[in-house]
Amino acid sequence: MLAKSSTELVRQQNSALVLSALRRHGRLAHTEISDATRLASATISAITAELERAGVIEKMEQQAATGRGRPRVLFSQRRNCGYLIIVIISSDSIQYSLVDYAGTLLDRFTEPRAQGGTAAFLDSISAALERVLARSRINPDEVLLISVSSKGLAHASEPVLVWSPVFGAQPVDFTAVLKGGWPAKVILNNETLLVAGALLERETKKAGEGEPVLAALSLGHSIGLGIGRRGTAPAPDISAPNFGHMLHIPSGALCRCGARGCIEAYAGFYAILRTAFEVPIDTIPAKFVPLGEIDKIAAQARQGNRRAQLAFRQAGVALGNGLSRLLSLHGHMPVFITGPGTRHQDLLQAGIEEGLAEAQVVRLGGMPVLTIAPDEPSLVFEGHLNLAFSIVDQDIILSRPHPPVRAAGE
Ligand SMILES: [Zn+2]
Repeated sequence: MLAKSSTELVRQQNSALVLSALRRHGRLAHTEISDATRLASATISAITAELERAGVIEKMEQQAATGRGRPRVLFSQRRNCGYLIIVIISSDSIQYSLVDYAGTLLDRFTEPRAQGGTAAFLDSISAALERVLARSRINPDEVLLISVSSKGLAHASEPVLVWSPVFGAQPVDFTAVLKGGWPAKVILNNETLLVAGALLERETKKAGEGEPVLAALSLGHSIGLGIGRRGTAPAPDISAPNFGHMLHIPSGALCRCGARGCIEAYAGFYAILRTAFEVPIDTIPAKFVPLGEIDKIAAQARQGNRRAQLAFRQAGVALGNGLSRLLSLHGHMPVFITGPGTRHQDLLQAGIEEGLAEAQVVRLGGMPVLTIAPDEPSLVFEGHLNLAFSIVDQDIILSRPHPPVRAAGE
């Protein structure tokens, strides 16, 4: 019994390796799957045949470039094996994307966020999900997974937003968005966790030279942080510690979370605005500051306005201090900076370095490498696809019926 179940486990692991190789590299021939997975040729034949029978992958023939000789047989995920819906929640809008099983984007639309409480918010998402189906004529049972992201604190295992800038500590349970007839699973993740996952995957594709662990820091109205660590295949280890609301200065400036002295209360857009206009630090910050307002302050700082320069310097120091604590706790790692706030990196840089420089971890190990990754929306989307497909592929492998077990000696 034990032997049989461990054989089954190995078969599942090998199937997962084949599916993730096809995810990472696209269409692959038998020998290329072998190179990518290091599995034996016969094992790959058995797995690809089984996955093809189950309608999970398909094969196509590619004529040799010369037009002569035998065509190459390439395997790939079968597009209509199922669909994903990606829901990206921002402070002022929600973007919906429909993606097929092979990762092709089929439809996308953005709606303004509904005003009102959590019930109205969830109802508007329910209605939009129905619209996703109607626009592409898809049935609810063809949707394998709905992957939602937001700023704020997500529950570790349930699709529940525990704290968010808009709803505060009022929990938002996303299982409520599916009203009848939807068998799909719903997952929720912090947006910067997904960015860290996408960056880690990009590094992993660099074949051996990429970073094994990295941090993603998102600068905007709120401050997000994700950590990605290359774990044992296939799933990487990604997390989103509560960096923005970590203490920077005891009894300091008032934060949107209600606490005093958080990093965000010095480095978020509203904090930069507050300092630039000399608003008292115990003033309840604005709910939302348009990027154009911060750009204006940045322009003033670049023209030599001292108060505007101080606002960015102070933000930089708060970020640098926070990063030094991150490195002290987790060890040295490169930091990728993303989000709309990267437009002001020239004004933040000196403060960030100042905030980092005092920590022993930096004095001994040197400054971490800081890299600007300005394309946050594409990183968030990539992060969604990576994580969602790893879950979907795992579910497909686990749900397939066991192959017939041969009798001993056969
Ligand atoms: Zn806070």
